[in-house]
Amino acid sequence: MTPQDERLLRRAIELANESRATGHAPYGSLLAAPDGTILVEAHNTVRADRDISAHPELKLARWAARELDPGTAAATTMFTSCQPCMMCTGAIDRSGLGRVVYALSAEQHTEIYPEGGFPRVPQEGPALFEEARVPIVGYYT
Ligand SMILES: [Zn+2]
Repeated sequence: MTPQDERLLRRAIELANESRATGHAPYGSLLAAPDGTILVEAHNTVRADRDISAHPELKLARWAARELDPGTAAATTMFTSCQPCMMCTGAIDRSGLGRVVYALSAEQHTEIYPEGGFPRVPQEGPALFEEARVPIVGYYT
């Protein structure tokens, strides 16, 4: 981790502190260009927006996919106060960002807040393969 990485990671932690101080959940993230320029910042607004997907990492992944060309996105690094959750990780992978740097790991977060997890919703499948494959076949060619 470079001194620039540490500076940007400290800014993400500062965003988490600001989020908490303004009544939101204590998480903050930013996207930075290779030269360290901050492109956009976000904090958690799950409660205020009444939106379970209003994590800062997901907001930034959506922003990058919408606003940046693929080459620029791939050169971008997300700095975030905590390791992205599974929901955000999926969006980050689809966004084409180049790298993620986080401060607190998921394990460390669980040590601080053991009640913070969610029960897994049971999933059933695969099923009805011949019918379900029809809309997919040929779409990606
Ligand atoms: Zn998340």
